[in-house]
Amino acid sequence: MKNLKDLTRPNIWSLAPYSSARNEYSGHIARVFLDANENPYNNPYNRYPDPLQQEVKERISQIKHVPTECIFLGNGSDEAIDLVYRCFCEPKKDNVVAIEPTYGMYRVCADINDVEYRTVLLDENFQVRAESLLDACDENTKAIWICSPNNPTGNRINREEIIKVIENFQGLVVVDEAYIDFSQEESMTKHLPACPNLIVLQTLSKAWGSAAIRCGMAFAGKDIIDIYNKVKYPYNLNYLTQKQALERLNNTFEVEQWVKLLLQERRQLMEAFSLLPICRKVYPTDANFFLAEMDDAQKTYDYLVGKGVIVRNRTRITLCHNCLRITVGTKDENSELLSALRTME
Ligand SMILES: *Cc1c(COP(=O)(O)O)cnc(C)c1O
Repeated sequence: MKNLKDLTRPNIWSLAPYSSARNEYSGHIARVFLDANENPYNNPYNRYPDPLQQEVKERISQIKHVPTECIFLGNGSDEAIDLVYRCFCEPKKDNVVAIEPTYGMYRVCADINDVEYRTVLLDENFQVRAESLLDACDENTKAIWICSPNNPTGNRINREEIIKVIENFQGLVVVDEAYIDFSQEESMTKHLPACPNLIVLQTLSKAWGSAAIRCGMAFAGKDIIDIYNKVKYPYNLNYLTQKQALERLNNTFEVEQWVKLLLQERRQLMEAFSLLPICRKVYPTDANFFLAEMDDAQKTYDYLVGKGVIVRNRTRITLCHNCLRITVGTKDENSELLSALRTME
């Protein structure tokens, strides 16, 4: 890996970050807070939240076995994605490389930040070779995006190839594990100590059932997390989100039950789909959704909308012609989807 200073935008490297009252005072237990121009009334909403979310991070640290100083929390993974560009990519000069097709936010954030976005097409098994990704890089490539399990294809990317990319790339490798809790494979977080150029993204939005509160996680070496913390909005996770995240993280048992149930439902739903005459292929998945190739995805999509059942039409996505992306719902929701499809003209 290049040294972090050379990977970081010069203005960010030399940035003196905003220092809030809550930053500057964090010592002894205090009783009287007259330092932040807060209103003393309307407790607890009158106080600024913890800018570094220590309590939430300590709980995540226990669950994920990553030290708190190697954890960043953001307003969804989207914030952690955007920060890759804002911290490391010089507009109009640097570039990033990503697999294609994949999660749309990597490209949107590249476009917003005016950073070139290069793609490497997945093969017919939705896999990629490390050499193809590395060949797409040049001296201005700051990051490589790998989503595994991948959205919208559902499969995980071969672990040996990911490791090869990390070992042979001089810049950052971001592995987005939004769906890791539904996968048979272990998280890449165990490789963090040996891989200073690795950033692993996870989220409370999927298996943890908390998309509404907007809480994404980035795991990386302390030096990278320090840069993230310097650039983020001071209070990027509000009080209500931190409170609800803690509550959710303290009931992992319920999450495990949800995941078990969803995996069971996924198996049944995929089996039923593969038997539908209008379904040509069901792709293997490691996520809480799967890709199904239909005779006519647009027609099926429109029909389902008429029945009040919304799936994701991915027919215009590269390699996904005539594909629908189906999220696994409750038993009742899945039954409703299937009975609608079985009675389709
Ligand atoms: C859903 C999803 C996320 C989650 O984004 P949040 O902003 O945390 O809700 C991240 N990455 C991928 C690939 C996703 O599909």
